[in-house]
Amino acid sequence: MTNMFEEKKRKQEAINVAMSKIKHVIAVASGKGGVGKSTVAANIAISLAKKGYKVGLADADIYGPSVPTLFNIENEQVMATEIDGKQLMLPFEKFGIKMMSVGFFVDKEKPMLWRGPMAANTLTQLLTETHWGELDFMVLDMPPGTGDIQLTLVQQFSVTGSIFVCTPQQLAVADVRRAVNMFKNDQIAIPIIGLVENMAYFTPKELPNNKYYIFGKGGAEALAKELDVELIAQIPISMDISETNDNGNPISLEFSSPEAECFMDLAEKIASKTIKK
Ligand code: ADP
Repeated sequence: MTNMFEEKKRKQEAINVAMSKIKHVIAVASGKGGVGKSTVAANIAISLAKKGYKVGLADADIYGPSVPTLFNIENEQVMATEIDGKQLMLPFEKFGIKMMSVGFFVDKEKPMLWRGPMAANTLTQLLTETHWGELDFMVLDMPPGTGDIQLTLVQQFSVTGSIFVCTPQQLAVADVRRAVNMFKNDQIAIPIIGLVENMAYFTPKELPNNKYYIFGKGGAEALAKELDVELIAQIPISMDISETNDNGNPISLEFSSPEAECFMDLAEKIASKTIKK
């Protein structure tokens, strides 16, 4: 019988080799789906690339993979290449970002029924069998929630730092508390860069200096304090964010919008907090 520990060790070594040219892995997590985790991940990736970093975006959200839509590459075919006798998938390259998504391998019409270990294995394969090359940052769009899949992912990929996305609505806030506590657990201890409150306020175009906290104010700030993490960004709810998402050109591709500035500010914080380590 194969020794399970030996096999686990071998697997981890293979993962480490595959990821050895990736300097920093940033996990973008959330307690539940639909809070804007993928939007934040995509815009962080674009902003880091704008700053000149080599960036990869790995979409591991098995419950709602968004990268193909966000970057309008839904109809592309994944190509393979041979590197050192090994078949690897070629990531798509758009706007200077290398991207791969679990979305290319799942049927949109059928809900995902993968259970923990199978899903974790598939995601590991997706990440390690992609020819990323050298990267300064891999932005990892995590599956929402707290479970074995998320745990396996963050542990196997030696995440450098994590970002939690929440919205002002109470329910999401309760979920994010669970997610942050999971990462903080002594045995896991993934460094937390901070909390991002998405859809935090609304600013009408004609009143650019006004912020209306239409879903309530102060919730994320209080939660960040309670969890002893930093509230590193508040992103407005914005028609432009939603429209640019839908047409495959996320807002950070524009240089001069207040939303793009919010994401750039966030990316700069992430870079300064991870590179220092
Ligand atoms: P998640 O990855 O958490 O499931 P998404 O990033 O896919 O969430 O976002 C869910 C929906 O909300 C998408 O339709 C997206 O375009 C929209 N959205 C996300 N953030 C914002 C925002 N700040 N303003 C307006 N719409 C947003």
